[in-house]
Amino acid sequence: MRRRRNAKIIATLGPSSSDKERIAQLFRAGADVFRLNFSHGTHDDHRQRLQTIRELEAEFGRPIGVLMDLQGPKLRVGTFEDGSVQLKAGNPFRLDLAEVQGNDVSATLPHAEIFAALKPEMDILLDDGKIRLKVVRCGLDYAETMVMTGGKLSNHKGVNVPSAILELSPLTDKDRKDLTFGLDLGVDWVALSFVQRPEDMAEMRKIVGGRAGVLAKLEKPSAIDYLEEIIELSDAVMVARGDLGVELPPEDVPAVQKQIVAACRQAGKPVVVATQMLESMITAPTPTRAEASDVATAVYDGADAVMLSAETAAGDYPIEAVSIMERIINRVEVDPSYRTIMNASQREPEATSADAISAAARQVAHTISAAAVVTFSTTGSTTLRAARERPVVPILGLTSRPATARRLALAWGVHSVQTKEIKTFADMVKMAIDAAVKEEFATRGSQIVVTAGVPFGTPGATNILRIAWIE
Ligand code: PGA
Ligand code: MN
Repeated sequence: MRRRRNAKIIATLGPSSSDKERIAQLFRAGADVFRLNFSHGTHDDHRQRLQTIRELEAEFGRPIGVLMDLQGPKLRVGTFEDGSVQLKAGNPFRLDLAEVQGNDVSATLPHAEIFAALKPEMDILLDDGKIRLKVVRCGLDYAETMVMTGGKLSNHKGVNVPSAILELSPLTDKDRKDLTFGLDLGVDWVALSFVQRPEDMAEMRKIVGGRAGVLAKLEKPSAIDYLEEIIELSDAVMVARGDLGVELPPEDVPAVQKQIVAACRQAGKPVVVATQMLESMITAPTPTRAEASDVATAVYDGADAVMLSAETAAGDYPIEAVSIMERIINRVEVDPSYRTIMNASQREPEATSADAISAAARQVAHTISAAAVVTFSTTGSTTLRAARERPVVPILGLTSRPATARRLALAWGVHSVQTKEIKTFADMVKMAIDAAVKEEFATRGSQIVVTAGVPFGTPGATNILRIAWIE
């Protein structure tokens, strides 16, 4: 089974997509990676879904990536006497650390970290930014604010403080339990929400200890200030436009999206564009034209993957959403201007032998119209360097590790295949040819470009480029 596109699709699983037949349909429709969202569902739900994915993987004979998404420190207001209140612009509104009965003049905000970081003039956003308060006076256990944008506020609605860095551990107790659970299950990627600083990713890396790839969800303005450092400490990044779009004014989101995608492509780290991509398809069988255009923009930018959230997790048309996403990607990638844009945004190779070989492989494959660039990589790093080149021809990523094959499901243009352990370069060329034919990339008479590091098993030692004929 071979897909003919470069950008990948992540589909979030949930109540609309939990039984085996449904997940199989999502995969057939084009989902390359499934996201288990730990903000919802029980451990049993997630275990069941992961088992189903692994069964399907064996049946389809294709590696499938699984991304576990940790909830992170989601901040919320307390409760109200009547369940909700109506806040009016121009009125004062008080927030207290202490437990109070919420009403239209005050409410509980049970997060000391917020009060510690507040300063007069800061904005506090409630309910995904629908309500805006401005701090007038504040202390370590209270804030007197003025309602700038009013509206209905109900129990436990979310709170955002865009301009503050909060003294919060990036992992709550729930996240730590979920993480242990997910790593034991054997997820391929772990996503950390509300990353604020490089240290958050450093801590995450330490805990995960290489058992999964770590992905930073960028949804705080402060994360953008440390963009390069955070990317450096991450194996992949997500433009989490849901919360990012609450913390930043909407007009800033497109430029920030482009900035993050460009920085990740420069670093050669997979980058995911997420949230509200086909939002209207939660309740409709076709997307709006603006949504189609949004998906296309991410693909033209060269993102590695685009993601569906509620569309596949809780919507009425999960299969249709994946299908239309696949059609949009396919259509963009045959547009001649897509190639022009991809070439114009090409990054210079870094001064390493792996990058020199990867850049040469791209050039050679293009010049001789090769059927594929074939990489061999134990950890996946060489294959990611090949993907960073955004070559015209597909990348066949051979690896002896199932975990690497699955992780690479997220990467632009990579079709990964698990092979036996390789001992010699001759083995490797034979295996590359066999895989290229078996996976329907090449037929007799085609040529492939093979890269490898000799001796085998030395990470980062890519030093050979070979053109092989299929006889
Ligand atoms: P979420 O993350 O769906 O877990 O909130 C994505 C986003 O905020 O865009
Ligand atoms: Mn979010």
